[in-house]
Amino acid sequence: MKVLVWNENRHEKTDPRVTEIYPGGLHNFIAGFLSDGDIEVSTATLDDENCGITEERLAETDVLVWWAHMCHHEVPDSVADMIQKAVLGGMGLVLLHSAHFSKIFKRLTGTTCSLKWRDGARERIWTIKPNHPIAKDVDETFVLDPEEMYGEPFDIPTPDEVVFMGWFAGGEVFRSGVTYRRGAGRIFYFQPGHEEYPTFRNKNVLKIIRNAVHWAKPEPGTHQIECTNPAPLEG
Ligand code: ZN
Repeated sequence: MKVLVWNENRHEKTDPRVTEIYPGGLHNFIAGFLSDGDIEVSTATLDDENCGITEERLAETDVLVWWAHMCHHEVPDSVADMIQKAVLGGMGLVLLHSAHFSKIFKRLTGTTCSLKWRDGARERIWTIKPNHPIAKDVDETFVLDPEEMYGEPFDIPTPDEVVFMGWFAGGEVFRSGVTYRRGAGRIFYFQPGHEEYPTFRNKNVLKIIRNAVHWAKPEPGTHQIECTNPAPLEG
């Protein structure tokens, strides 16, 4: 399986706290823990030529993992077009944390993806669909302290599945892990992962991302449904 980890990689260039937690950047950290005998991982960042995204590269990608925060507007529409097409054709997409506001997530959901937020909160995650493949071997509940608070209402269409719920010490709740299918593609959005905190070092978070990548990979034989104009079969 081939996974492409995409990172905006701008905080890493201006905030030494981020590179202290994730030396080499978030993309290389995530690529490092995903790489194993089953998964071949490559990375791309916003400052690569054309964001490191080409149709050829997406065609050989089973799952795209996307982390972004401040610079969603710098991703060209043409890149969002290519990713949308690839997802509809069966490529999996895993969106992390502030990728809720990415062009590609907003486009695939068709909503604003707005939410409440506040920095530096204690979060308790609950696994509410323990039999879901993305929840395999994940604890029933675990704490991230601190994580950035993301609170409801989260302006997304009703998800196919809510696998994880988050509760924050300020009292807010959030649909922290949600799935969608669009065309032949599978999409998972996961809320934790603020760049200033060691969230991606949490063993449950790592399991969830690894499980999500396996869940989102294209099913054999799936493909985009084409618009056709067939002759009648009868009459
Ligand atoms: Zn954040």
